[in-house]
Amino acid sequence: MWIYLNDRFVDRKEALISVFDHGFLYGDGVYETLRTYGGRCFMLPQHLARLQRSARLIGLTMPISEQEWPALLREAVERNGLTEAHLRITLSRGEGELGLDPALCPKPTLVIMTRPIAQYQAHLFEEGVPLTLAVTRRNLATALPPQIKSLNFLNNILAKREAGQARTFDSLMLNAEGLLTECTTSNFFFVSGGGLYTPSVDCGILDGITREVIMTLARGNGMPVEEGRYPAESLAHAEEAFLTNTSMEIMPVRSLDQALIGAGRPGPVTRRLRELFRSNLARFLA
Ligand code: PLP
Repeated sequence: MWIYLNDRFVDRKEALISVFDHGFLYGDGVYETLRTYGGRCFMLPQHLARLQRSARLIGLTMPISEQEWPALLREAVERNGLTEAHLRITLSRGEGELGLDPALCPKPTLVIMTRPIAQYQAHLFEEGVPLTLAVTRRNLATALPPQIKSLNFLNNILAKREAGQARTFDSLMLNAEGLLTECTTSNFFFVSGGGLYTPSVDCGILDGITREVIMTLARGNGMPVEEGRYPAESLAHAEEAFLTNTSMEIMPVRSLDQALIGAGRPGPVTRRLRELFRSNLARFLA
């Protein structure tokens, strides 16, 4: 497996970083995950813009120019003989002496990893996944803005552990005000009274790129979407719910804390959006 490390492709065994890297020591860094379909990146400009935003918000300069990214990512995929790939770009503060001051690190560390895209079992898409309502609340946006897709993932990892302990697929998280936010690596939508709803960005969520695509497709096909601030009780009468992210696309939700959502299987809105996603995919590939 070839991994891009700082300025060249190296074999996996040589892809090593220092124990002094502040990404390792303090979670000081940002990342982005992307995927390809037939070798073409999904929503590439949007992912690169989000990486750029994350880096800017922590005061990191991107070591690769905007123009260089497409060829570099293509090479990362092709060298590994992949066409349906998952890519992860990690940009850390780099190596420096112990201490929080970013000035201790003169040069960021850049890593690009690829692997075949995760194949979710077909029955999950057919039956929907069970969720846990996590006790762990989503980070306060004023403490760690979710617009920074940072290496500090412990908040979500704690919620993921809760899901594991409850033997569910993932956790749905509330914010400090008790409002719905998102799952540990995906955005959340629900259908109620025939309308489509999703928590707004000001609830403290990552503005997912798949979420944006789904809202564009829904609105363009006569399905209005409301972004807002919804308490967990809003789900009591929900007919459908689903998750979105780059690797799952749209994943139906079956239950929350063992209570079925609607009929407990993918409903017409979820199914229609999945069809629209698939039939419009080419529009979103670079
Ligand atoms: N929310 C969180 C916390 C995430 O980590 C992710 C993806 O990594 C998402 C939502 C979905 O984002 P996207 O659709 O851009 O993959």
